[in-house]
Amino acid sequence: MSVELHISGMTCDACARHATGALQDAGAHDISVDWRAGRATIDAGGASRRDLARALDGTKYRVERIVDPIGVGASIDGEYEYDLAIIGSGGGAFAAAIAGRGRDLRVVMVERGVVGGTCVNIGCIPSKALLAAAEARHRAAQSHFPGISTSARPVDMRQLVGAKDEIVGELRQSKYIDLAGEYVFELLEGDARFVEGPALEVDGRRIEAGRYVVATGAEPTVPDVPGLAEAGYLTSTTAMELDELPGSLIVIGGGYVAMEQAQLFAHLGSQVRMLVRSTLARGEEPQVAEAVRAAFEDDGIAVHEGVTADHVRRDGSGVVQGGGGPGGGGGGSTPGASWRRTNGPMRSLAGSAIARANSACSSRSAGVRPWLPVHAASSRVRLSKRSGCSVANRSAAAPPAE
Ligand SMILES: Cc1cc2nc3c(=O)[nH]c(=O)nc-3n(C[C@H](O)[C@H](O)[C@H](O)COP(=O)(O)OP(=O)(O)OC[C@H]3O[C@@H](n4cnc5c(N)ncnc54)[C@H](O)[C@@H]3O)c2cc1C
Repeated sequence: MSVELHISGMTCDACARHATGALQDAGAHDISVDWRAGRATIDAGGASRRDLARALDGTKYRVERIVDPIGVGASIDGEYEYDLAIIGSGGGAFAAAIAGRGRDLRVVMVERGVVGGTCVNIGCIPSKALLAAAEARHRAAQSHFPGISTSARPVDMRQLVGAKDEIVGELRQSKYIDLAGEYVFELLEGDARFVEGPALEVDGRRIEAGRYVVATGAEPTVPDVPGLAEAGYLTSTTAMELDELPGSLIVIGGGYVAMEQAQLFAHLGSQVRMLVRSTLARGEEPQVAEAVRAAFEDDGIAVHEGVTADHVRRDGSGVVQGGGGPGGGGGGSTPGASWRRTNGPMRSLAGSAIARANSACSSRSAGVRPWLPVHAASSRVRLSKRSGCSVANRSAAAPPAE
């Protein structure tokens, strides 16, 4: 196996020759030493890491680090406990762990919450399970054939969410937890933070590894809309745990999580209104956004683009109001929106050692923007139109109480 050695103490061509000889004696071959860079590339042959680490003992040079082709290092004075420590246990973390095990690395994974992270627990899987069920209800409620009448009965959210939780539990077990046993790596519970070393501290236990992967994902974050906290709100996570269907809902945001949640609740039978600061599906091609707009119109979802929620307040009628840009007056009763922020190592893995943990790489997910519904008995959302529009800060009239 080809590896790179970081060697200190070499100052001239003669040093390179001496180092080459010592490495040959240790069993390495195909040796190329660059004394200026302080590096040697070798084929380790049958030499173990420990042999290589000690190959220059008794000379004035020293092997400081051994780096294999995928960039995984090992300590020299006694090996680290692990070759690879992964923070987080979502899809990114498991991909890294499986790749690491494929290279026979000793891997440890640390999770502070629920194993599986976002996708299986609160993201892709639960949302698609619920969307599939909601579509069945939506189709039943709509008859497209003359002479055929169909109907849909009220949704039992408790049962629906219970069934979704079962699917999530099964997939969490079979697609995540079980893999730690199958691929043979350690799965630790606890909150990881970087400390001097660099090393990780996990609930008092120190973990040292040759390399660290930060796969800490993102979490819902609440936008700074005055009154929102007081009025109460849902996130995409809590919305998919409701045990009662909201009669109406305002979704704040226009990204994919917001769109998913809007359609989910519309198909379940809620009246849904979306407040989108820029445009729907902003990151997609305009044709995609157009197709989504058309589909949402068919679904009865009212989409208001170019509007910003200024504030939210309860109005005593048991509903939350939306108002604002053209056509933005009136509103649903449960505003919702969705933002997510990255769990960056600088935020969640505190400690000065992070700056030194230059071996860490990141598989952080970027820019996930879920929604943040306001789930309020009686509130108003005031909106302002952006981009120099003339309509600003207009509150809506209260809709009929449900
Ligand atoms: C509602 C919703 C629907 C989605 N639908 C889709 C979809 O259909 N398709 C798709 O591709 N993507 C979808 N996504 C996005 C997708 O779920 C995420 O991009 C993906 O799961 C991110 O994976 P990750 O491994 O980067 O992080 P995560 O899965 O978020 O895992 C990070 C883990 O790190 C843990 N952690 C954080 N800090 C620490 C610490 N200090 N110590 C220990 N553990 C820590 C967290 O507890 C968490 O479990 C959706 C997201 C949401 C919210």
